Amino acid sequence: SLSDRLTGALKDLRGKGRLTDSDIDATAREIRLALLDADVSLPVVRTFIANVKERAKGSEVSAALNPAQQIVKIVNEELVGILGGETRRIQLAKTPPTVIMLAGLQGAGKTTLAGKLSKWLAGQGHTPMLVACDLQRPGAVQQLQIVGERAGVPVFAPHPGTSVGGEGTLGVSSGDPVAVAQAGVAEAKTRQHDVVIIDTAGRLGIDAELMRQASDIRDATSPDEVLFVLDAMIGQDAVSTAQAFAEGVDFTGVVLTKLDGDARGGAALSVREITGRPIMFASTGEKLEDFDVFHPDRMASRILGMGDVLSLIEQAEQHFDAEEAERTAAKISQGELTLDDFLQQMLMIRKMGPIGNLLGMLPGAGDMKDALSQVDDRQLDKIQAIIRGMTPAERDNPKIINASRRIRIAKGSGVTVTDVNQLVDRFFAARKMMSQMSGRMMGMGGGNRKN
Ligand code: GDP
Ligand code: MG
Repeated sequence: SLSDRLTGALKDLRGKGRLTDSDIDATAREIRLALLDADVSLPVVRTFIANVKERAKGSEVSAALNPAQQIVKIVNEELVGILGGETRRIQLAKTPPTVIMLAGLQGAGKTTLAGKLSKWLAGQGHTPMLVACDLQRPGAVQQLQIVGERAGVPVFAPHPGTSVGGEGTLGVSSGDPVAVAQAGVAEAKTRQHDVVIIDTAGRLGIDAELMRQASDIRDATSPDEVLFVLDAMIGQDAVSTAQAFAEGVDFTGVVLTKLDGDARGGAALSVREITGRPIMFASTGEKLEDFDVFHPDRMASRILGMGDVLSLIEQAEQHFDAEEAERTAAKISQGELTLDDFLQQMLMIRKMGPIGNLLGMLPGAGDMKDALSQVDDRQLDKIQAIIRGMTPAERDNPKIINASRRIRIAKGSGVTVTDVNQLVDRFFAARKMMSQMSGRMMGMGGGNRKN
């Protein structure tokens, strides 16, 4: 999967202090393959990778993030950017009614969307009306009437009497979808509905007659929005379908449907980039409630498949105090870490949430997870209490803590003397190890002066 590949590509970058050009190229190659796997179209992948590379090469080394996290952050930001940044709202007509026309292939989810959108708009105080212009597929009008009834929204349809929609159903006698659309908009005006949603016919494939019908309906009703409804599951075909509708009908926005399926979202990325039209809504199921405005950030983390990693990065940046960390790193490498520093570090980590969650979020943190799996929040509470029970001089130099002080500290912090001894011993061992490690990593010869 994309997530595995990215994690794999990024794991190789862990522990490096700085990104080299060849690191970036190697990672970019993996990300490129991964995006193609997710059905993003090739030209879009090329643009995307070029942007990521450029930014990665020009980026400053972040103090808060390791190189792997930095790349994930850039990839994510570029994805959100391509997906449209902020979500665009429906453009309302200056003089009601606002006309919204739905277009797309058969089975894309137009009729279902008509119900969802009308219910959503009604919830915001609008008084929408649906217009049934799919006169092609048997049962299409009736389907819209059922949907309208569920949403509590009236449906304007031809052939009165075939309705199961009950009292909300209006009608006109015509087999011509363009005439129905026009009559529907006129009716909405008369009845003072402020939004009209026009459901149209689709074909299984792109088809000249269908396009002409759709553009005729558009010309006859001058919609404020034409929403192209796209099944997210159709993969690479999304691009050619979107291009055909962009040329044949032209649309102002996109609605992605069937996002409850296992589609990776590559279609979203391609369609946004190729047509330049915003994705406005997302459909996530068959029920009327399975619907929301489109959130580019959520889609980006879906495409990356790394939502947890992204939220970890966000938290790391929020809670990071660069100066403090630099001071601590210097102390570590000098072997001068105090119990106070130790406590501060721990508190910083704890601000990010329970330690278990934190480790679960790290890509490829297997080894560390094993090593730290025994440390739970209760133990951290205990350590915190012990350190707080010490005097500043003792925290600075735990060697001065003698036996009677250890008993006092244990009593004062509600732990046993063994707990205190263990903490002090572990602290010395950790300080020695960290100093040696940082010496090796930084090529500074690890001056562990105090041990
Ligand atoms: P239309 O031909 O474009 O009008 O498509 P329909 O609205 O009739 O939907 C076609 C099928 O897809 C129906 O069975 C819907 O219940 C289903 N459908 C529509 N939207 C979604 C969605 O977001 N998720 C899922 N799982 N099914 C959907
Ligand atoms: Mg339909």
